[in-house]
Amino acid sequence: MTATRKLTYSAGSQSTKQTMVDVVKGLPIQCWIEKKLGRIASLLGKPICTDKLTVRCERISYARVLIEMDITQPFPDELSIEKADGSIWEQKADFEWKPKFCMDCDQFGHNTDACE
Ligand SMILES: [Zn+2]
Repeated sequence: MTATRKLTYSAGSQSTKQTMVDVVKGLPIQCWIEKKLGRIASLLGKPICTDKLTVRCERISYARVLIEMDITQPFPDELSIEKADGSIWEQKADFEWKPKFCMDCDQFGHNTDACE
């Protein structure tokens, strides 16, 4: 089933596997170092690049990373990040674009909610 999904999808544009992720709301400042941000992003998929404003810390309300994801997996709204002291930080993630994928009929093009 998974293989079928992937085949169906790769018939489209490759670039549509990439989406921008905004890691928002109080990300601890020590996570802004590009390497750490990359590790956080790799929880979701393959980080492609970090937004320039994020790298230069010119916009500190949220961090923005372009990421390539396995879009057949559900998109998590939150990430668990282990901090240096071993405690877990729940970080909210916002996706600029999510593929429409229906879990009921296993097809792209509409969401499960919109399935008829
Ligand atoms: Zn459907």
